[in-house]
Order: sequence, then C-alpha cells, then structure tokens
Amino acid sequence: MSGRHDVVIIGAGPAGLSAAIYTGRARLDTIVLEKAIPGGQILITDWIENYPGFPDGVAPFELMENFRKGAVKFGARIVTDAARTIRRDPDGKAWIVAGGKAEYPARAVLVTSGAQYRRLGLKNEGRLIGRGVSYCATCDGAFFCDAEIAMIGGGDTALMEAVFLTKFASKVHLIHRRDALRGTKILQERLLANPRIEIHWSTVVEEILGAENVEGVVLRHVKDGALETLPLKGVFVSIGMDPTNDVVQGLLRLNERGEIVVDPLMSTSEKGIFAAGDVIAATPHQVATAVGTGVHAAISIGDYLAEN
Ligand code: NAP
Repeated sequence: MSGRHDVVIIGAGPAGLSAAIYTGRARLDTIVLEKAIPGGQILITDWIENYPGFPDGVAPFELMENFRKGAVKFGARIVTDAARTIRRDPDGKAWIVAGGKAEYPARAVLVTSGAQYRRLGLKNEGRLIGRGVSYCATCDGAFFCDAEIAMIGGGDTALMEAVFLTKFASKVHLIHRRDALRGTKILQERLLANPRIEIHWSTVVEEILGAENVEGVVLRHVKDGALETLPLKGVFVSIGMDPTNDVVQGLLRLNERGEIVVDPLMSTSEKGIFAAGDVIAATPHQVATAVGTGVHAAISIGDYLAEN
C-alpha cells in the first residue's frame, strides 16, 4: 500500500466500520485495517436484542455484514492486516501505521481496536483453553451437550451466556463473587427463572482442575473461606473486558485501566490521532455507543483534515 491516505482506521468493529461509512461519504481516502474478519468482538455473541431499530433482535453477523457493506459502498477499503505500531511521519504532517504486511501513512488515524476478554489469572486456565476453558459461549457451547459446566461472572455477558448455554448443558453453575448480580434486570429475571441454572453466590474459583481436559473447579466461599470441589466438563469465563491497546501503549495517554483518554471530539493526546468504541475511557461497551463514538470521531476527523 503506497501513498498517503486521508484516514487509517485500526479495527473493523462497530466503531471502525461506522466511522468508515462517514469518512467514505465525506470522500476521504479511507483504509480500515482488520486483523481478523470484520465485525469485532460482538460476533462471538449469539444474538443482539438491544440495538435500536431491530425490535425482534438481530444476528451479530448479519448486522456487522451490513455495516461492512455500507463502508465499502462509500469507498472505504478494508485490508486484512494487524496494526502493530503508529509513528510520526518524518515531515511531522502525518502518521505511519505499521502493519504486519505493509506500512500505511495517513493524515489522520482512528483507533477502534476494541476490548478483549479478561482472564481469571488461575494457574491451569491458559493450559486448558480449548480443553474445557472458554471465553465464548457462542463459539464453544455446543461442545458441552448434556454436560455440567460453570459460568464465571455476574455481568450482562455472564447472564446472557449462562442462559444460552442451557440449550446444550444439563446444568450451568453460575459462580459470582458477590451476593448481587451486576447485569441488567431483564437478564437477571431470565437467569433466575431458568431451572437449569444454579447460582453460587459470594463464591470464587480457587483452582481449575484437569490434566488433559477440565475435570472440575475448586470453589472458595468468600464469606467463610470454605472450599468445595465441583466436578465439571467446562468453565466459561465472562468477567469483563480489557482494552486492546498494544498499538498505542507509550504513544497515547491511557487511564488506569489502559483505556485511551479522549476529549469530547474523540481526539487523543496526539494531534491527528482519534479513538472510538470500546477502547476509549468511560464508555458502556454497547454496539450503539461504539457506533455513536465512531461516527463522532469520523466527523471530527473531517473537520481536522479540513483545517490542517
Ligand atoms: P462487566 O459488566 O464488567 O461484568 C463483569 C463481571 O465479572 C462482574 O459481575 C464482576 O463482578 C465479575 N468479575 C470481574 N473480575 C472478576 C474476577 N477476577 N473474578 C470473578 N469475577 C469477576 O463485563 P461484561 O458482562 O462482559 O460486560 C461488559 C460490557 O458490555 C458492560 O458494559 C455490559 O453492560 C456490556 N454488555 C451488554 C450486553 C447487553 O445485552 N446489553 C451484553 C453483554 C455485555 P462484580 O459484579 O463483583 O464487579
């Protein structure tokens, strides 16, 4: 890829693709870099029922495919490449995004690299990924037909996915570290009404057991420290997200959680670099808010390029 682009967008999730629709329509030469398939983390959930305009819900793949088509229709080019670093062009008027396959010089950069699933940090967790430990119920749920499994977490993702997993599993143990759930009330109601889900309140996973595959977990009750072993075939972990910030570490101002700090125009601490979506600070991690911040950033980029 040669020549200087107007905008390079890092990440083809809801924020990046929404921004690309706007920069494309503004006739800005737009490249969207995506390391995997366009769509972002939302593709690993099975159904979206709170995106405005779809009262019956929508499949994430269908929604994101329409986002992608819109971006391409207005001229954005989606390139499969993983952005690795961003550095200033020697003339000081642009940035160079270095990918694994090529370098992409651009007058403005939009970082929409999203967030990734957080790990529990337990000894056997990494070793047993794909052998019973999973972060994606939609991807792996069907491997656990008629098995007993655990879902760790008490947020929206854990609640939705625990209910989804009862399509396959004989029983889902929801393990939550407090005695109140964080997730939305309607999701709590569905969870509590499901006879195949047992909630273990104020409980954490002390250890994941298994040599070749997951065989169980050791639970610790946080109030009295009592330990309990639960035989299981699967452990699903949904304990939140961490920002995907590798590309901008040491370059942009981040908050204590590693999220990119932006001003109300979605500008970062470096002139000409903007950010949007789940990677920015203080955002509620919704498709609708990712769309909103992506569009806002695209409009700010248009203004910035017109002035510079
Ligand atoms: P979240 O809201 O941050 O919830 C994470 C859950 O994991 C919390 O219950 C937390 O416990 C627990 N947790 C965190 N660290 C833990 C640890 N080390 N050990 C045990 N438990 C731990 O994350 P999320 O559910 O993935 O949701 C992320 C964002 O996406 C949220 O803004 C959510 O609203 C949004 N989302 C929305 C929908 C929707 O349908 N609207 C669906 C999925 C996600 P505490 O409660 O004690 O902190």
